[in-house]
Amino acid sequence: MSSHLPVVLPGSLLVAVLLAWGFWDAAGHIVIGTWLAALIVVIFVRLGLSYYFGHQPRSRPNDFLLKKTILAGSFISGCLWGSAGVLFFDPGNAYGFALLVIVLGGLVAGSLGSHSYYFPNFLLFAIPEFLPLISKLLLMKDDFYTLIALMMSLFLLLNLYYSKKYADMIEHSIRLQFANDALLQQLQESNRELHEYSYTDPLTGIGNRRQFDRDFEQIWQSASTAKAPVCLILMDVDHFKSYNDAYGHPQGDQVLKQIALVLLQVCQEYKVRGRPLRIGGEEFALLLKGNLELAVNTAEIIREAVSSMEVDAGVEHAVTASLGVAIAHPIGGDTRMMLFHAADEALYKAKTAGRNCVVAVETKSPESMAKPG
Ligand code: GH3
Ligand code: MG
Ligand code: MG
Repeated sequence: MSSHLPVVLPGSLLVAVLLAWGFWDAAGHIVIGTWLAALIVVIFVRLGLSYYFGHQPRSRPNDFLLKKTILAGSFISGCLWGSAGVLFFDPGNAYGFALLVIVLGGLVAGSLGSHSYYFPNFLLFAIPEFLPLISKLLLMKDDFYTLIALMMSLFLLLNLYYSKKYADMIEHSIRLQFANDALLQQLQESNRELHEYSYTDPLTGIGNRRQFDRDFEQIWQSASTAKAPVCLILMDVDHFKSYNDAYGHPQGDQVLKQIALVLLQVCQEYKVRGRPLRIGGEEFALLLKGNLELAVNTAEIIREAVSSMEVDAGVEHAVTASLGVAIAHPIGGDTRMMLFHAADEALYKAKTAGRNCVVAVETKSPESMAKPG
């Protein structure tokens, strides 16, 4: 609100000096000097206050005080300029009269742009600035001066009308801006939620296949920068079809949820630097940085935790899972596809080795090692 003052105030200071110069010999030196001194003081006080408020933290009380200060400043300036219309007017000085009308009229027109962001601000400046000269002219009871006073009144009224329109437009655009900001915030929030949903498995609440693809790409890149290997653990629940057939799909869903919880617990308890993801119906994955031995140990802990899971009391069928582990070296020429295939191959081997076990393979030299559970 006060950002225009450092431009407008020095401009009006220049106009004041020129006006005082124009009337220096016509009006008394003391009158002119006092008037100019008073205006200079007001201008510098307003500049100082605008600087002070410009460096204050934004707060309601500060904004309220700033608004009042600006309105008071506009009114006092308007009164001082208006007093020039009475102090300097001399019916015998046609040149001085023209100068007064031009300067005061010009200031009203100029302040239309600089003061109209808030209508009362323009009102408080323009009316005391123009009214004294208009009144003085009307009191002259002369047709010529009356005509000019009427013209000036019309000019003032038109300016007041446009100032109001201008202020309304500014207020409307500020409201629109606020509404836009609120909408934008809502949109960003919805996008964030949508993004979260699209990367989350609705049944278990852990990341889904899309999240897996994204994590895989990120981990692969950071491992290749760090010249480190990447391990992948793939886990598939054993005989889950028959589990579903025996106890029903809803019970199967409960088991999948429970497995996701177990995976989260293991990752938290053993400070595993990776997160479990559900990448298929009854298939889970865990991407890890580090060596194969660490990944195999983690897989073994998971296998054991799943097999010792306490499922619903009425269900006798023990839930087990088979796990395939593989390691790949991004900077050694391995690809993500190779790692995935190697882990899948290891999982297949774990299934054929009797299930409920962990099998690990290397991407290049498919040396496998089975750890029956
Ligand atoms: P294997 O030990 O060879 O993996 O045998 P399996 O029965 O687990 O394998 P198969 O691929 O034949 O069956 C997978 C089953 O997983 C079939 C399907 O009913 C079940 N399944 C997949 N997604 C869900 C799910 O969201 N909820 C439930 N309850 N079951 C699911
Ligand atoms: Mg499967
Ligand atoms: Mg299965």
